[in-house]
Amino acid sequence: MELSEFAEMTIVDCHTHIGGEDLNIVNAILDQEAQAGVDELVALVTSGPRRVNVMPQAICAKAKRPDKIYLFAGMDYSHIASDVDHRWTYSFPRQIDRLIAMGADGLKMINGKPNVRKASGIALDSPIYEDYWAKVEETGLPVLWHVNDPEEFWDPEAAPEWAKGPGWLYDDTFPTNESLYAECERVLDKHPKAKIIFAHFYFLSDFLDRAAAFLDRYPEVNLDLTPGIEMFHNFSKRPEQAREFFLKYQDRILFGTDFTPGSPLSRIWVIRNFLETDETFHVPTDERLFWPDHRTMITGIKLPEDVLSKIYEGNFRRIVGKAPKPLDMSLVMEELNRLTAIHDAMGAKPNMARKVAEELAADDGEAPPH
Ligand SMILES: [Zn+2]
Repeated sequence: MELSEFAEMTIVDCHTHIGGEDLNIVNAILDQEAQAGVDELVALVTSGPRRVNVMPQAICAKAKRPDKIYLFAGMDYSHIASDVDHRWTYSFPRQIDRLIAMGADGLKMINGKPNVRKASGIALDSPIYEDYWAKVEETGLPVLWHVNDPEEFWDPEAAPEWAKGPGWLYDDTFPTNESLYAECERVLDKHPKAKIIFAHFYFLSDFLDRAAAFLDRYPEVNLDLTPGIEMFHNFSKRPEQAREFFLKYQDRILFGTDFTPGSPLSRIWVIRNFLETDETFHVPTDERLFWPDHRTMITGIKLPEDVLSKIYEGNFRRIVGKAPKPLDMSLVMEELNRLTAIHDAMGAKPNMARKVAEELAADDGEAPPH
């Protein structure tokens, strides 16, 4: 089916990344996704220790298009660093309180991706994160959490070609995928009320019985459909079982894409064609994260409109909020000034926190008097 033939429904993309130096790029990504029927999106901030992140750019995107952009903030880890000025650092719970007051809509964690988990040396269930999860549970702020990766990334024979470029092949110096699941599930056992959207279907697309048991055991967790294209290959091995799963867990599944400015629209097309048609089709070859791949054909599961509407919009609004929260601009400026100092200490060039602060101050000056 062509993009123009898909169902006319409101779609929220729960998983995109906006970074770079162009502070107006949000308009381009919104226009681009709109061509594939997507109306609103979440700008995610991935972060880790000793790593400058795109929090300033994501704040900027939301400030420029407040009606369209939800912000899922990344934690700043500088309070556990020894080489920064601790007048500027805050504990995780204090950051979460500040982010809520500022108008963040949720949080993003990438600490469960095997290479990030290895580089940080911090277990997912480490005491370092204990007050983070306690605060998440207490406040009800949703977290989009990346834990694990496709199991074939640990197997050089089975791994697809496209995974080798970015270095996503894991030898035995990396944590195993079962050890990551175990660390994650100890967090969930301790904090069962934490509202979590697991990125990339929690990499259980080849294990639907296990995915079902996981959702049954943890009622507050949800799964997003952001490729890993392996997900759609796995569903296509048993499309009837996949369809049954989607019908049974229709309230727990969210649409996401991992779109970045300039991604091909085929990234969105493949997900929608899978959800909306029963076609058997070739994987798009113009997306460097889909191809080349030894698997080629995908089979759609043609879901009914009411189920599509939950996956595209309803589940997200229920979990996160009916509309993006308004930003408190004075708290935004305070946070940008704090990040400017931290990013300077980390040697960030250019310092995007400073650039965004200047940009938003200038935008504010241009606003008509009221
Ligand atoms: Zn992502």
